[in-house]
Amino acid sequence: MSVGPLHLVLLGPPGSGKGTQASRLSQVLGIPAISTGDILRAQLKAASAHGDQLQQYLDRGELAPDALVIEIIRHRLGEPDTERGFILDGFPRTVGQGEALDLMLDGLHRPIDAVVYLAIPAAALMERLVHRHRTDDRPEIARHRIEVYLAQTAPLIEYYRRGQRLVTVDGAGTPDQAYHAIRAGLGLPDEDIGSNDATAIVTERLRLQLLGPEAIRALLAGDRPAAERLTGVTIPPEFGVDADRPFLTVQLSRIGQMPQGQAWMVRLVRLRQSGAVIGSIGFHGPPALLRRAEMGYTIFEPWRRQGYALEAVRALLDWATRQGAPSVFLSIGPTNVASLAIARRLGFYQVGEQMDEVDGRELVFELALANPKG
Ligand code: AMP
Repeated sequence: MSVGPLHLVLLGPPGSGKGTQASRLSQVLGIPAISTGDILRAQLKAASAHGDQLQQYLDRGELAPDALVIEIIRHRLGEPDTERGFILDGFPRTVGQGEALDLMLDGLHRPIDAVVYLAIPAAALMERLVHRHRTDDRPEIARHRIEVYLAQTAPLIEYYRRGQRLVTVDGAGTPDQAYHAIRAGLGLPDEDIGSNDATAIVTERLRLQLLGPEAIRALLAGDRPAAERLTGVTIPPEFGVDADRPFLTVQLSRIGQMPQGQAWMVRLVRLRQSGAVIGSIGFHGPPALLRRAEMGYTIFEPWRRQGYALEAVRALLDWATRQGAPSVFLSIGPTNVASLAIARRLGFYQVGEQMDEVDGRELVFELALANPKG
């Protein structure tokens, strides 16, 4: 997915989790999180000319002068790493700063895309602040910082609401809940695409997502972009070519129309965390119906040797067992050490050999499944 530059402001009382959300968003979106609080503390360490005065504002939980922080931001937004966007954390903190920011960004033709307001009840705030351990988080100062927020910063909520840029998010839950609420509020797709796909098989690290007949047809027709549109994921160039083609053709010839009836078909092996497609796995036909249901799988480089194949094969064997399949077959080339190890580890027995048109000599393994139906 490629998006234009993204300009975000995080707004909310001290302790609402702006810093946490800013750094997580910064990481996934690849744009810098800019915290005026961090910059001011860094300047104090470097002991600039007006250090003493500045220290007093921070120690008392009061705001540094508008002119000073506006200059800091003007300077910071001129750095090249803001080209693809930025996330402001703790700026603006007054309506004056908000207006100065608008002027600055208008001049650059880079308007703010959204202001995320992390809303949180006052009582919950105190609780959070006294559990942090910064010198300006001592109870009486924390209370004062909240007063300063209500008097000087909260008016910005109205300011941005009028400009229709406000995205209000519940900041009272866990950081993870707030993060997903922000993504939803900004209209960013959830990282875990297909997370509400009832036909997906999910393991500790993987999501086995059905490719689906339409996408298979597109791949066989050489139309990878269409397959990617249909599945919503980037399909690595290794998939759907050469040895996969006869497999996919067999899949299509045995197609079931119902989603449940497609559950045996080829699945994209995806990392749950990043969503990356790292391989594929599936049966040549429905294992509960065929006398001899063969499983096929691939994990692409550079994801091999990390136990992903074993994890995916296990999950599919569990699925086949629940379907009442009597047994599952694997054909493995005699030099495919990794797959031979998986077969042995899972209790497969070698039952013969065969010559495959594409892959040459293969050893055939079978695993009898504990049939829950009898
Ligand atoms: P923070 O880390 O965002 O909580 O900021 C810590 C302290 O830095 C605040 O209590 C203020 O004293 C000062 N500060 C940070 N950002 C601003 C700002 N935008 N305007 C004025 N003072 C600020």
